[in-house]
Amino acid sequence: MDKGTLNLYTIPEDKLQEKKLIGSGGFGEVYKAWHKDWGHLVALKKLNTKHVQNGQEQLLLEAKKMLCALSIDHVLRMYGLCRCSDASFGLVMEYMENGSLARLQALVKPLPWALKFRVLHEINLGMNRLHDLCPPLLHLDLKPQNVLLNKDLHIKISDFGLSRFKRGITLPQDVPPADGTLEFMAPELLDDVNCCPTKASDVYSYAILIWSVLKGEEPYSNAMSSVIKLHVPRGQRPSLEFLQDLYNHVERLEDIKSLMVKCWHQEPSERPSFKDCIQTTREIFKAHEHQEGKAVCDVWDALKKMETSLEQERWEVPSSTTLSSSPTSGLLANFKTMTL
Ligand code: ATP
Repeated sequence: MDKGTLNLYTIPEDKLQEKKLIGSGGFGEVYKAWHKDWGHLVALKKLNTKHVQNGQEQLLLEAKKMLCALSIDHVLRMYGLCRCSDASFGLVMEYMENGSLARLQALVKPLPWALKFRVLHEINLGMNRLHDLCPPLLHLDLKPQNVLLNKDLHIKISDFGLSRFKRGITLPQDVPPADGTLEFMAPELLDDVNCCPTKASDVYSYAILIWSVLKGEEPYSNAMSSVIKLHVPRGQRPSLEFLQDLYNHVERLEDIKSLMVKCWHQEPSERPSFKDCIQTTREIFKAHEHQEGKAVCDVWDALKKMETSLEQERWEVPSSTTLSSSPTSGLLANFKTMTL
């Protein structure tokens, strides 16, 4: 793909009203806003040029990759670019009402099994479509923070900030190399600075994401980065001990565990492709599908209760105390986790 062949739709900033900060990441801040002509909410990911080297270039690349994946189910839609009044750039994207999977996992503990298996199947479907593009689109930063949920708790994969077309696009020399989140990075990438990421690197990240969804936690929460960098290339993986007590209670748990273990195989060529995984994730989800409606309602209820308690807390907070400026981090900081 030629960088110049994709035209990006420009969205005037004055069309975006009632901007509200909802999160922040490596690129800068993310806002939700009302598009006054379209009559619906959008997300604006605004680039913080001060902190990101060659950020404008990166943002454009991210936008173009998202455009290529425009019509793919379970991949976040990109609407266009916005040049903001403070001379910064922003990506205008589909707004996902329930934020990231990382946020949901932190707020609702544990997530119902039917929802966990639906999420895992949908991620598999989305990633398979990205890898099936020509040329394939590698994500290279697949993790719960980059899986977003809409109001019905269906997922879309986001944040192509680190993804690269395997071939066909010439990266500017000054765009930094892929650098995913350590815990989700494949051993071959941790072990060899010259190693080129492949589809199998994304499959490895998916395996760690499966672990995180099953456990409801971030992996290696007690380990230092240096320990992860040393021991994952030597074959260590997150502990499977917690599954022992669950096998008798959760249908097809053994099957998802086997799939996860295959996907985090030390040898990239031994890992299955996303296409190979689809039948298994579908069958596991189907075994829990009868609980799907209840699972979604239970999570909605838990989130609603939290909103109510946040509202109450707001009334109790002395006027001199300010809540976090980011609603996402504010929620995480202020909410106690709920048990369904
Ligand atoms: P990094 O980019 O550094 O890996 P990140 O993925 O968390 O971190 P962003 O993509 O900038 O960073 O997103 C920050 C947060 O904003 C997300 O975790 C999510 O909660 C929220 N967010 C991002 N995009 C959207 C969206 N389209 N709709 C709703 N919320 C979003």
